[in-house]
Amino acid sequence: MLSFIAKALSSDSRYIWGNILAPCEVINSMGIRMISVEALACFLSGYHLEDFFIDYAQSIGLAPTLCSYHKAFVGAVESGVCPKPKYAVTTSLSCDGNLNTFRFLEKQEQVPFSLLDVPYTNDEDAVIHFCHWGCKQVSGGSNILKNDMKEKEIPMLILDGDGIDKRNSHDGQIKTRLEAFLEMIEEDD
Ligand code: SF4
Repeated sequence: MLSFIAKALSSDSRYIWGNILAPCEVINSMGIRMISVEALACFLSGYHLEDFFIDYAQSIGLAPTLCSYHKAFVGAVESGVCPKPKYAVTTSLSCDGNLNTFRFLEKQEQVPFSLLDVPYTNDEDAVIHFCHWGCKQVSGGSNILKNDMKEKEIPMLILDGDGIDKRNSHDGQIKTRLEAFLEMIEEDD
């Protein structure tokens, strides 16, 4: 993933912005590289740089309660570190924050975007629901999902944490709960 991001960042005339579910395979087949909000935020966090870009985004007015994936991405763009492409593509899944981020960047940076409406299916055996700090969607939907899974007798684990900002994360606790859940599923099989 690191080389993929690095190559995309170094070929700004042939790359676009996207989100995690945008069809990067189709885009790659046209010789265009894509960087998603989520991948760039992970890239920055992998190098322990996320706090700088999150703080930068907040210093230009983004709400502290906004998802750290989006703050890290917007911070990288607005600080001039991430080059500006000519186009972006986002999807209706899995994030309701994407639309606002791409609308913001269209206005700020004049990067137009398309929204793809992705069909949804519901055929899971078990669910791990990660409540990322600042994600209104996963936090707000966790109780609805929990009740739905209970009715269908599908095992579900809810984890709280932050995939990007290490200042909000408790990795040891998450690992312990995840291992216990996976063991429970294996025993049930
Ligand atoms: S954590 Fe939530 S708001 Fe953040 S990128 Fe994922 S779905 Fe979007």
